[in-house]
Amino acid sequence: MPRAIIAAILSLAVFLTGCCTDPVNGESYFCFGEVSDQEEAAMGAEYAPSFIAESGGIYPDPALHSYLNEIVIDKLAKRSHRPDLPWEFHILNTSQINAFALPGGQVFVTRGLLSKLENEAQFAHLMGHEVGHVTHRHSVRGQGRAAIFSVLVGLVSVAEEQLLDPETPHLITPAVAGVGQLTILKFSRDQELQSDRRGVDYAVAAGYDPLEGKKTFELFLSLKGGGESMIEGLMSTHPLDSARIDQIDKYVAKAHPDRPNGLAVNSTQFGGLLASVRNAQTIYEKHDEAMAMVAQAQKDNNLGALDTAETMLRQCANELPGHAAFSIGLGAIALTRNDNTGAERHFDKAISLQPNLFMGSLYRGVARENLQRLGPAKQDFERAHSIHNAHPLPCYLMGKIAETENRPADATTWYQRAMERSPAESSIHTKAKEKLEALQAGSPA
Ligand SMILES: [Zn+2]
Repeated sequence: MPRAIIAAILSLAVFLTGCCTDPVNGESYFCFGEVSDQEEAAMGAEYAPSFIAESGGIYPDPALHSYLNEIVIDKLAKRSHRPDLPWEFHILNTSQINAFALPGGQVFVTRGLLSKLENEAQFAHLMGHEVGHVTHRHSVRGQGRAAIFSVLVGLVSVAEEQLLDPETPHLITPAVAGVGQLTILKFSRDQELQSDRRGVDYAVAAGYDPLEGKKTFELFLSLKGGGESMIEGLMSTHPLDSARIDQIDKYVAKAHPDRPNGLAVNSTQFGGLLASVRNAQTIYEKHDEAMAMVAQAQKDNNLGALDTAETMLRQCANELPGHAAFSIGLGAIALTRNDNTGAERHFDKAISLQPNLFMGSLYRGVARENLQRLGPAKQDFERAHSIHNAHPLPCYLMGKIAETENRPADATTWYQRAMERSPAESSIHTKAKEKLEALQAGSPA
């Protein structure tokens, strides 16, 4: 969404402030104008694809998704205080340990977090907590849409730091950076406590033992204490301490004294699915290490250091053949070596495995552009733009192709889009601005 429109919404909001109602308890709170359920759902649906793209895409395990989806949607969300929202559940393919929700019922959990869980009741409490943020409307309070967009621009700018130069975009490790940066979606302590209680209520309603919720949080605290860096994002968006953990058991005793005995803790199927995620997680740890080596090799301009990373990624691809992330890594290595034909082959494979990955389309476009095949490159950049609308890079690259093809009006539009989607001080913003000014002056930059 263009900055000008955000500014307009913000200034309009000043005149629309007043009282809104919490759908769970009917309490009034100060707000910038009531957002309808339809608007809230539209907001979540609009931004979910960009959050997915910034977090390594969707974890490609349909059996896992369908099992967990039934828990999150049918057992928790549809029995919550807002059963009629268009709830959607996504597993993000990143090693970051995180879970979050966007307004309107978009609920996310990461591969990294799943790999740490011990049982199904823990998962239910955690997802009940995220459902609680949505049912209480925590994430549409305040600036709502504008705040979410600014989180996205922040995310993109972090990823963009890793693009050494917008003229020759090499590579990125969004699966490593990604959702750790969602700090603007931070909630207050009271909101966290409220969501913890909803996590308990919704887990009990779904037939799970609520006392497992406490164990999840204790696990997170121990990971943090053990220096697990992948948990920093979760800790910054959902601040956690032992006082908060103690509240959970107190609330269970107070709110659910008559809960039935023998509530569910785990199931054989969940245990099996978790084992497969843990196995995948160890392979992805090798992938993350290889990608960090690639980023370092690019920084040092040391192509020799790419060989080890390539061997590691090939091993990963053999062990998890249905996952596109490893082909994308191999393609990035080929691009770094300026082997565009080899890169295109890796990205072809990635796209055939997982057609909706932003990086697959974006970087195949780069390889094709380097091979002077502008038509196919354009199709890839358009596809990347439609997968992740908030990212400036596909817009910038579309602008460059339009310029080469002598379509100045199109080039102007694309460069403007790139500027709207990037922070003013970033290099891509500056480049797009220079290109735009040169176009307007009637000479190519
Ligand atoms: Zn929370």
